[in-house]
Amino acid sequence: MYRIYVYLILQQKKLADIKNDFISNISHELKTPIATTLAAVQGMQYFDVLKDDKKTEQYLSTASNELERLSAMVTKILNISIFESADFTLNPTEFNLKELIESIIASQEIRQEKPISLTLNYLAAETVFADKTHLYNVIINLIDNAIKYSADKVTISIDCMNIPKGIKLSIQDDGPGIAQEYQKNVFDKFFRVPNPNDHSVKGYGLGLNYVKHIIEKHGGTIAIKSDDTGSIFIIKLSQYAPL
Ligand code: ADP
Repeated sequence: MYRIYVYLILQQKKLADIKNDFISNISHELKTPIATTLAAVQGMQYFDVLKDDKKTEQYLSTASNELERLSAMVTKILNISIFESADFTLNPTEFNLKELIESIIASQEIRQEKPISLTLNYLAAETVFADKTHLYNVIINLIDNAIKYSADKVTISIDCMNIPKGIKLSIQDDGPGIAQEYQKNVFDKFFRVPNPNDHSVKGYGLGLNYVKHIIEKHGGTIAIKSDDTGSIFIIKLSQYAPL
């Protein structure tokens, strides 16, 4: 009995620590784009930047990039709280999944942080019945991770094929992979693969937890296969998911 009590207290302490870390990380990350945007806008307001076309363009592009970053972070935070609330429901509609993936690919290709090769092999039914916004977020999260965790360039292949009563969507990268011992944890809330030598890749350990919730809410499944040649995330969705 005593041991259970100690265990529960430790468990709660661990959760409290995780929560505190999360809040301090996220506050720091939210403050940076706000401060940068403010500096850019105030520069234009008070320091004659508007008389210099080149500088104006630079400041505007900084402000716009930082606001985009901020918006992506806020969306992430809102997604966590929304999908965990008891009255969270999907809003399924019929849409063309192939077109959705093509538009995601086009938007990713203009990202310039590293060479990205993204290919789509779409052999499945194109019209699906699902929550378009959340499915979009799911695909973006997986592509984002593939880009974020790979070295200086990345090749991503997206495959979609029909399976009995549904479709299978795989997103494969040639990044560093995830060690076998951590693969069972990657969908846990706040879990990040420990990497003591590299703190450069930022994150909160929430993306894959969100992805799994959304896929399961659609009545689907998600699995991972990974080794040191890369990772592959495999989603199975019934085309007319029981919602
Ligand atoms: P975040 O990226 O914010 O840390 P995620 O929930 O999206 O959180 O991912 C959990 C962890 O799984 C990441 O911290 C990373 O260690 C690992 N991971 C996820 N996707 C990949 C990938 N494509 N390649 C290598 N590692 C990955």
